[in-house]
Amino acid sequence: MTTCITEKATQKEPSKAYQLVGRQKERTKIKVGHYEIGGEKVAIIAGPCSVESNEQLLSAALAVKEAGATILRGGAFKPRTSPYDFQGLGLPALKMLAEARKITSLPIATEVVDSEDVDLVAEYADILQIGSRNMSAFRLLQKAAKTGKPIILKRGFQATIKEWLLSAEYILAQGNENVILCERGIRTFDSEFTRNTLDLGAVSVLMKETHLPIIVDPSHAAGRADLIYPMSLGALAMGAHGLMIEVHPNPNKALCDGKQSLTPSQFKEVIEGIKPLLATQKRSI
Ligand code: PEP
Ligand code: MN
Repeated sequence: MTTCITEKATQKEPSKAYQLVGRQKERTKIKVGHYEIGGEKVAIIAGPCSVESNEQLLSAALAVKEAGATILRGGAFKPRTSPYDFQGLGLPALKMLAEARKITSLPIATEVVDSEDVDLVAEYADILQIGSRNMSAFRLLQKAAKTGKPIILKRGFQATIKEWLLSAEYILAQGNENVILCERGIRTFDSEFTRNTLDLGAVSVLMKETHLPIIVDPSHAAGRADLIYPMSLGALAMGAHGLMIEVHPNPNKALCDGKQSLTPSQFKEVIEGIKPLLATQKRSI
Protein backbone atom coordinates (compact mmCIF):
# COMPACT_ATOMS: atom_id res chain seq x y z
CA MET A 1 0.00 0.00 0.00
CA THR A 2 1.39 3.41 -0.83
CA THR A 3 0.32 5.75 1.89
CA CYS A 4 1.17 9.35 2.46
CA ILE A 5 2.39 8.46 5.94
CA THR A 6 5.05 5.93 4.98
CA GLU A 7 5.85 8.61 2.57
CA LYS A 8 8.16 8.81 -0.37
CA ALA A 9 8.38 12.38 -1.53
CA THR A 10 7.78 13.18 -5.16
CA GLN A 11 7.35 9.80 -6.78
CA LYS A 12 7.00 11.10 -10.29
CA GLU A 13 9.03 13.30 -12.54
CA PRO A 14 8.99 16.82 -11.21
CA SER A 15 7.06 19.33 -13.23
CA LYS A 16 9.30 21.80 -15.04
CA ALA A 17 7.24 24.68 -13.72
CA TYR A 18 8.28 24.15 -10.10
CA GLN A 19 11.53 22.31 -10.56
CA LEU A 20 13.09 23.07 -7.17
CA VAL A 21 9.92 22.52 -5.17
CA GLY A 22 9.09 19.35 -7.10
CA ARG A 23 12.61 17.92 -7.07
CA GLN A 24 12.79 14.19 -6.35
CA LYS A 25 14.37 13.81 -2.96
CA GLU A 26 13.62 12.72 0.57
CA ARG A 27 11.21 14.87 2.57
CA THR A 28 12.94 18.11 3.53
CA LYS A 29 13.30 18.50 7.27
CA ILE A 30 13.41 22.03 8.55
CA LYS A 31 15.30 22.78 11.71
CA VAL A 32 13.77 25.33 14.07
CA GLY A 33 15.60 25.52 17.39
CA HIS A 34 15.57 21.99 18.80
CA TYR A 35 12.67 21.04 16.58
CA GLU A 36 12.47 19.67 13.10
CA ILE A 37 9.47 20.09 10.82
CA GLY A 38 8.89 17.38 8.24
CA GLY A 39 10.16 14.40 10.24
CA GLU A 40 8.39 11.85 12.39
CA LYS A 41 7.55 14.42 15.02
CA VAL A 42 4.47 16.47 14.30
CA ALA A 43 4.87 20.23 14.71
CA ILE A 44 2.24 21.96 16.80
CA ILE A 45 2.27 25.69 16.20
CA ALA A 46 -0.13 27.44 18.53
CA GLY A 47 -0.88 30.81 20.04
CA PRO A 48 -3.13 33.80 19.56
CA CYS A 49 -4.13 35.22 16.21
CA SER A 50 -2.61 38.52 17.26
CA VAL A 51 -0.41 39.65 20.08
CA GLU A 52 -2.57 41.98 22.17
CA SER A 53 -0.56 42.48 25.36
CA ASN A 54 2.25 40.95 27.37
CA GLU A 55 -0.21 39.24 29.70
CA GLN A 56 -2.38 37.83 26.91
CA LEU A 57 0.62 36.49 25.00
CA LEU A 58 2.40 35.03 27.98
CA SER A 59 -0.69 33.37 29.30
CA ALA A 60 -1.35 31.78 25.88
CA ALA A 61 2.33 30.85 25.46
CA LEU A 62 2.62 29.10 28.81
CA ALA A 63 -0.66 27.26 28.26
CA VAL A 64 0.18 26.00 24.78
CA LYS A 65 3.63 24.94 25.89
CA GLU A 66 2.20 22.99 28.80
CA ALA A 67 -0.28 21.28 26.50
CA GLY A 68 2.53 20.20 24.14
CA ALA A 69 2.90 22.91 21.49
CA THR A 70 6.35 23.05 19.92
CA ILE A 71 6.23 26.51 18.35
CA LEU A 72 4.52 29.71 19.48
CA ARG A 73 2.57 31.77 16.97
CA GLY A 74 1.27 35.32 17.30
CA GLY A 75 0.68 38.12 14.84
CA ALA A 76 2.45 41.44 15.27
CA PHE A 77 1.48 42.73 11.84
CA LYS A 78 -2.02 41.65 10.85
CA PRO A 79 -3.26 41.58 7.26
CA ARG A 80 -6.91 42.47 7.95
CA THR A 81 -9.59 42.46 5.29
CA SER A 82 -10.94 45.76 6.63
CA PRO A 83 -8.65 48.76 7.18
CA TYR A 84 -10.76 49.59 10.25
CA ASP A 85 -9.96 46.33 12.05
CA PHE A 86 -7.10 45.84 14.51
CA GLN A 87 -3.89 45.85 12.49
CA GLY A 88 -1.55 44.45 15.14
CA LEU A 89 0.78 46.18 17.59
CA GLY A 90 3.82 45.99 15.31
CA LEU A 91 7.25 46.34 16.92
CA PRO A 92 6.05 46.19 20.56
CA ALA A 93 4.41 42.85 19.71
CA LEU A 94 7.66 41.53 18.25
CA LYS A 95 9.37 42.43 21.53
CA MET A 96 6.66 40.64 23.49
CA LEU A 97 7.13 37.57 21.32
CA ALA A 98 10.87 37.64 21.99
CA GLU A 99 10.17 37.87 25.71
CA ALA A 100 7.70 34.96 25.53
CA ARG A 101 10.34 32.91 23.71
CA LYS A 102 12.84 33.67 26.48
CA ILE A 103 10.41 32.51 29.13
CA THR A 104 9.02 29.41 27.37
CA SER A 105 11.97 28.51 25.09
CA LEU A 106 9.45 28.03 22.29
CA PRO A 107 10.59 29.27 18.87
CA ILE A 108 8.28 31.91 17.44
CA ALA A 109 6.44 32.16 14.14
CA THR A 110 5.03 35.52 13.14
CA GLU A 111 3.70 37.04 9.95
CA VAL A 112 5.41 39.60 7.76
CA VAL A 113 2.97 41.49 5.56
CA ASP A 114 5.20 44.00 3.83
CA SER A 115 8.63 43.89 2.18
CA GLU A 116 9.66 46.91 4.21
CA ASP A 117 9.23 44.99 7.46
CA VAL A 118 11.08 41.83 6.48
CA ASP A 119 14.40 42.70 8.15
CA LEU A 120 12.71 43.90 11.30
CA VAL A 121 10.49 40.83 11.65
CA ALA A 122 13.41 38.52 10.83
CA GLU A 123 15.38 40.05 13.73
CA TYR A 124 12.80 38.66 16.14
CA ALA A 125 11.17 35.66 14.47
CA ASP A 126 12.44 32.10 14.21
CA ILE A 127 9.96 31.46 11.40
CA LEU A 128 8.49 34.04 9.05
CA GLN A 129 4.89 33.53 8.03
CA ILE A 130 3.60 34.71 4.68
CA GLY A 131 -0.17 34.84 4.93
CA SER A 132 -2.89 33.80 2.55
CA ARG A 133 -3.44 37.35 1.32
CA ASN A 134 0.22 37.68 0.38
CA MET A 135 0.93 34.31 -1.19
CA SER A 136 1.38 35.99 -4.55
CA ALA A 137 3.33 39.03 -3.33
CA PHE A 138 6.40 37.84 -5.18
CA ARG A 139 8.76 40.64 -4.13
CA LEU A 140 7.83 39.97 -0.52
CA LEU A 141 8.51 36.26 -1.01
CA GLN A 142 11.92 36.99 -2.50
CA LYS A 143 12.88 39.39 0.24
CA ALA A 144 11.73 37.02 2.98
CA ALA A 145 13.63 34.18 1.28
CA LYS A 146 16.87 36.14 1.42
CA THR A 147 16.79 36.24 5.22
CA GLY A 148 17.46 32.48 5.14
CA LYS A 149 14.80 31.97 7.82
CA PRO A 150 12.27 29.15 7.58
CA ILE A 151 9.07 30.42 5.97
CA ILE A 152 5.52 29.21 6.50
CA LEU A 153 3.84 29.85 3.17
CA LYS A 154 0.09 29.83 3.54
CA ARG A 155 -2.08 28.98 0.58
CA GLY A 156 -3.82 31.93 -1.00
CA PHE A 157 -7.52 31.41 -0.42
CA GLN A 158 -8.13 31.65 -4.15
CA ALA A 159 -4.94 29.94 -5.27
CA THR A 160 -4.64 26.70 -7.17
CA ILE A 161 -2.17 24.12 -5.92
CA LYS A 162 0.11 24.93 -8.83
CA GLU A 163 0.07 28.67 -8.10
CA TRP A 164 0.91 27.88 -4.49
CA LEU A 165 3.82 25.64 -5.48
CA LEU A 166 5.09 28.34 -7.84
CA SER A 167 5.03 30.84 -4.98
CA ALA A 168 7.14 28.40 -2.97
CA GLU A 169 9.40 28.12 -6.02
CA TYR A 170 10.07 31.89 -5.76
CA ILE A 171 11.52 31.26 -2.30
CA LEU A 172 13.58 28.23 -3.25
CA ALA A 173 14.88 30.05 -6.31
CA GLN A 174 16.51 32.53 -3.90
CA GLY A 175 18.43 29.67 -2.31
CA ASN A 176 16.15 29.19 0.70
CA GLU A 177 14.77 25.67 0.87
CA ASN A 178 13.22 26.08 4.31
CA VAL A 179 9.61 26.39 3.23
CA ILE A 180 6.67 24.90 5.09
CA LEU A 181 3.45 24.85 3.08
CA CYS A 182 0.32 25.59 5.11
CA GLU A 183 -3.15 24.65 3.87
CA ARG A 184 -5.60 27.02 5.54
CA GLY A 185 -8.75 26.58 3.54
CA ILE A 186 -9.91 28.03 0.25
CA ARG A 187 -12.85 30.30 -0.39
CA THR A 188 -16.09 28.46 0.11
CA PHE A 189 -19.45 28.93 -1.60
CA ASP A 190 -21.10 27.86 1.63
CA SER A 191 -19.96 30.44 4.13
CA GLU A 192 -22.99 29.85 6.31
CA PHE A 193 -21.27 27.08 8.23
CA THR A 194 -17.52 27.40 7.72
CA ARG A 195 -15.22 30.31 6.96
CA ASN A 196 -13.39 28.41 4.21
CA THR A 197 -13.26 24.94 2.71
CA LEU A 198 -10.37 22.94 4.12
CA ASP A 199 -8.76 21.28 1.11
CA LEU A 200 -7.40 18.05 2.51
CA GLY A 201 -7.12 16.66 -1.00
CA ALA A 202 -4.43 19.29 -1.52
CA VAL A 203 -2.46 17.80 1.37
CA SER A 204 -2.44 14.41 -0.35
CA VAL A 205 -1.49 15.97 -3.68
CA LEU A 206 1.39 17.88 -2.07
CA MET A 207 2.71 14.71 -0.43
CA LYS A 208 3.43 13.51 -3.95
CA GLU A 209 4.25 16.77 -5.70
CA THR A 210 6.81 18.26 -3.35
CA HIS A 211 9.51 17.39 -0.83
CA LEU A 212 8.52 20.36 1.34
CA PRO A 213 6.76 19.74 4.67
CA ILE A 214 3.03 20.44 4.76
CA ILE A 215 1.05 21.68 7.73
CA VAL A 216 -2.64 22.45 8.15
CA ASP A 217 -4.32 25.40 9.87
CA PRO A 218 -7.81 24.24 10.85
CA SER A 219 -8.53 27.53 12.67
CA HIS A 220 -8.76 29.75 9.58
CA ALA A 221 -10.27 26.93 7.54
CA ALA A 222 -13.15 26.35 9.94
CA GLY A 223 -13.60 29.80 11.43
CA ARG A 224 -15.12 28.11 14.47
CA ALA A 225 -13.62 26.51 17.54
CA ASP A 226 -15.79 23.39 17.60
CA LEU A 227 -14.41 22.10 14.28
CA ILE A 228 -10.73 22.34 15.17
CA TYR A 229 -10.53 18.84 16.63
CA PRO A 230 -12.15 16.89 13.77
CA MET A 231 -10.30 18.94 11.18
CA SER A 232 -7.01 18.33 12.99
CA LEU A 233 -7.66 14.60 12.97
CA GLY A 234 -8.45 14.75 9.26
CA ALA A 235 -5.28 16.70 8.52
CA LEU A 236 -3.08 14.30 10.46
CA ALA A 237 -4.81 11.30 8.89
CA MET A 238 -3.77 12.75 5.51
CA GLY A 239 -0.19 12.79 6.76
CA ALA A 240 0.23 16.52 7.47
CA HIS A 241 3.53 17.25 9.21
CA GLY A 242 2.01 19.70 11.62
CA LEU A 243 -0.89 21.86 12.70
CA MET A 244 -1.26 25.55 13.30
CA ILE A 245 -3.98 26.34 15.83
CA GLU A 246 -5.16 29.64 17.30
CA VAL A 247 -5.41 29.73 21.10
CA HIS A 248 -6.47 32.69 23.21
CA PRO A 249 -6.75 32.91 27.01
CA ASN A 250 -10.15 34.54 26.59
CA PRO A 251 -11.53 34.05 23.05
CA ASN A 252 -14.61 36.21 23.74
CA LYS A 253 -12.34 39.19 24.26
CA ALA A 254 -9.98 38.50 21.35
CA LEU A 255 -9.24 41.47 19.08
CA CYS A 256 -9.02 39.11 16.13
CA ASP A 257 -10.47 35.69 15.25
CA GLY A 258 -12.03 34.98 18.64
CA LYS A 259 -14.72 32.68 17.19
CA GLN A 260 -12.16 30.22 15.94
CA SER A 261 -9.77 30.48 18.87
CA LEU A 262 -9.57 27.67 21.41
CA THR A 263 -9.31 28.26 25.13
CA PRO A 264 -6.19 26.74 26.70
CA SER A 265 -8.21 23.83 28.09
CA GLN A 266 -9.90 23.13 24.74
CA PHE A 267 -6.46 23.17 23.12
CA LYS A 268 -5.20 20.67 25.65
CA GLU A 269 -8.13 18.38 24.83
CA VAL A 270 -7.34 18.60 21.12
CA ILE A 271 -3.70 17.72 21.74
CA GLU A 272 -4.62 14.77 23.94
CA GLY A 273 -7.22 13.73 21.36
CA ILE A 274 -4.78 13.57 18.44
CA LYS A 275 -2.21 11.45 20.27
CA PRO A 276 -3.92 8.06 19.74
CA LEU A 277 -4.13 8.74 16.00
CA LEU A 278 -0.46 9.73 15.87
CA ALA A 279 0.43 6.54 17.73
CA THR A 280 -1.26 4.44 15.02
CA GLN A 281 0.90 6.29 12.50
CA LYS A 282 4.05 5.71 14.58
CA ARG A 283 4.32 9.46 14.96
CA SER A 284 4.30 11.74 17.98
CA ILE A 285 4.48 15.44 18.87
C1 PEP B 1 -3.15 34.13 10.60
O1 PEP B 1 -2.48 33.10 10.64
O2 PEP B 1 -3.46 34.80 11.60
C2 PEP B 1 -3.71 34.58 9.31
C3 PEP B 1 -3.98 35.86 9.06
O3 PEP B 1 -3.92 33.56 8.47
P1 PEP B 1 -4.31 33.55 6.91
O4 PEP B 1 -3.21 34.28 6.23
O5 PEP B 1 -4.34 32.09 6.61
O6 PEP B 1 -5.64 34.21 6.79
MN1 MN C 1 -6.16 34.60 12.68
